[in-house]
Amino acid sequence: MAPSFIRQCCQVLRWLPVVFIAAVVVWSYYAYVVQMCIFTVDSVLEKVLYLLFYHPLLILFNWSYIQTIFTPNGKVPKNFYLSQQEVEALDAELREDNQRALLTHYAKNLPIQCKTISGAPRYCEKCKCIKPDRCHHCSVCSVCVLKMDHHCPWVNNCVGFSNYKFFILFLGYSLLYCLYIAATSLQYFIEFWTVNSNTPTAGRFHILFLFFVSVMFGCSLISLFCYHIFLILRNRTTLEAFRAPIFQTGPDKDGFNIGKMNNFIQVFGDNKYKVALPIYTSCGDGVSYRSRTSTGSCYQTMGTSAGLCLPSHLRESECTLVIEPNNGDYYDDDPRPLTS
Ligand SMILES: [Zn+2]
Ligand SMILES: [Zn+2]
Repeated sequence: MAPSFIRQCCQVLRWLPVVFIAAVVVWSYYAYVVQMCIFTVDSVLEKVLYLLFYHPLLILFNWSYIQTIFTPNGKVPKNFYLSQQEVEALDAELREDNQRALLTHYAKNLPIQCKTISGAPRYCEKCKCIKPDRCHHCSVCSVCVLKMDHHCPWVNNCVGFSNYKFFILFLGYSLLYCLYIAATSLQYFIEFWTVNSNTPTAGRFHILFLFFVSVMFGCSLISLFCYHIFLILRNRTTLEAFRAPIFQTGPDKDGFNIGKMNNFIQVFGDNKYKVALPIYTSCGDGVSYRSRTSTGSCYQTMGTSAGLCLPSHLRESECTLVIEPNNGDYYDDDPRPLTS
């Protein structure tokens, strides 16, 4: 009884950062629209222009935030799970090399490239499944998450294959939102310090804090956004940036790097009209990935068999990779040898 009560309390508490962000957004709307644009700005043209650009930004920011929070994580396909007999046989083995042989046998028909340092297929003790490439177990969500990037408390969700595009757009639009507010409120922020300002005192304090808060959030968002753009262009998750996935050739942080354009398309899709919208357009099934040592399209080989464990509304991807003329070698950044 008690542990389940504590668990429920923890689940409620995990929403606090989301409630905090929502409260800041609601307050920023009041401070910007009511206190600044309506009560402080004198010029009608200025008022209209500020509000005209502000609202689309607000909608895109909130839309991508909601999509990041509420998009369910892609589940590991059923054929990656061990049967009861297989789990019992594995648990009965005490020797590590026998366990490794068993896991290798269970995974022989699965499309995996990455292994553990000992050469065994990656296995989740908690979910009792072979982990697909780039999949990791999240201890907060208590599930294995496809192409897990990290667990983000600000969205109370794991950032992974199914919502990574939404997360990046959320970072981008929230950064633009902060920069826009900071830029347009700057002159009224400066007026705060002039004695002859006509703005009522309450409004002046709202504008003062609006400027401070937007600059503060903007500064922290810009480094995070730039870091994730770097990761996208290198086709790395945050976890892979800290611990390189292990391929046949050894650990390789750039193992999934198939060229900047293809890496970008993998996350954002190839429909230029939908790239900037928080609509699902990422490529692939989240289970198998082309690596710079593999040939052929993983999207085609896995798309109809083991993959497609995403909610139905997320299955619409129809991506085309940019096939470069160098016959299978899509790695265009750092020409160092594959062995490491
Ligand atoms: Zn797991
Ligand atoms: Zn999680």
